[in-house]
Amino acid sequence: MSMDMAAAQALDAADPLREFRSRFHIPQHEGVDQAYFCGNSLGLQPRAVRAALVQELDDWAALGVEAHFRGKHPWMPYHAEVREGLAALVGALPSEVVAMNSLTANLHFLMVSFYRPTRERPAILIEAGAFPSDRYGVESQIRFHGFDPATDLIELAADEPGGTISMEAIERTLAEHGHRIALVLWPGVQYRTGQAFDLKRITELAHARGCVVGFDLAHGAGNLKLALHDSGVDFAAWCHYKYCNSGPGAVAGAFVHERHAVTDRPRFAGWWGHDQATRFKMGPEFRPTPGAEGWQLSNPPILALAPLRVSLDLFAEAGMDRLRAKSEKLTGHLEALIQSRVANVLDVVTPADPARRGCQLSLRVQGGRERGRALFEFLEARGIVGDWREPDVIRISPVPLYNRFTDLHRFVDAVESWRDGG
Ligand SMILES: *Cc1c(COP(=O)(O)O)cnc(C)c1O
Repeated sequence: MSMDMAAAQALDAADPLREFRSRFHIPQHEGVDQAYFCGNSLGLQPRAVRAALVQELDDWAALGVEAHFRGKHPWMPYHAEVREGLAALVGALPSEVVAMNSLTANLHFLMVSFYRPTRERPAILIEAGAFPSDRYGVESQIRFHGFDPATDLIELAADEPGGTISMEAIERTLAEHGHRIALVLWPGVQYRTGQAFDLKRITELAHARGCVVGFDLAHGAGNLKLALHDSGVDFAAWCHYKYCNSGPGAVAGAFVHERHAVTDRPRFAGWWGHDQATRFKMGPEFRPTPGAEGWQLSNPPILALAPLRVSLDLFAEAGMDRLRAKSEKLTGHLEALIQSRVANVLDVVTPADPARRGCQLSLRVQGGRERGRALFEFLEARGIVGDWREPDVIRISPVPLYNRFTDLHRFVDAVESWRDGG
């Protein structure tokens, strides 16, 4: 065993969160745990999920419609069971968050209210190379309102080596185009580069120019320590199947700042957003419930919410402070290993400053796509699971709830052995 590996084992032994790993199913490779670094794409399954799902099936079987009121976790107020956990996860007031729909759907529904283009101010600002769904979403919203993405979709290009974006570039763009921008839709963490952004600063800059600001926190929720309320952002949306471990296609999250709790902004309404005191009077007139819950459309999918409830309990138990502290150590350790041992194979694209990144390191494989694919497949064949982003990037995301320092060494040992001829 290398000195390095012994040091990593000591770090794992001293990790105050080490017990949480046993709360998850770790996928196997030839009889041993995978080195799973794909929690940025699909988080692992908490062991308690199965029983939580079976409970809902049992309540449905035994009680039928009455499980809405008499189940172990009554379905009628079920979304409220995740409210506190969700608020803690993203640094919001309980009234500012809701679990509903899916991520892209939430972006659209929130843009219905928060993207209100006018002839003088029609534009949306996003980052160049945004996640395709977000780009399709904003482009279709611009067209829906009769404007033209060719002029009214502003895509800010990366200005730093490696493809990241400086705060100065954001500031310059807002100074130049802010008067035309109706909405800034920005990532909390950019999915391709792993760059994390200062939500509060971006919000202040955008608000100073009269723009509404929303964040896509797909890669931020359950990863960064967020303070959505204090950062002042108007709205945000995120999914729960990445860092939040709630299963494929899990119910997503949405945030609407308290200042919009009661608003004249238009919205697409549904009965579940109606004032809860009178919802079942079934009257013809929509009266929204104040806060984020007023954007709900439908009664929630209980089978899809059960894993989220379990998962949020784990986050509450571990605490975002401790998770973030371990995450910075894991990611820092990984970067140091790469730099000392395989700097002639991998370039770290993600910013080095811990304030500008979360769990993920995006690693550009030197020598181009074919070489990159070869390395990626070599790793896969050894049970080391990251993910691939065209044309030449491997994303590796050590997750503090279940990854270990020794997992990082397995990765770097494998890269080294590939470089040296397999
Ligand atoms: C993962 C991800 C999505 C996925 O959208 P769904 O509606 O959940 O399928 C969208 N945008 C970003 C930035 C993502 O990272």
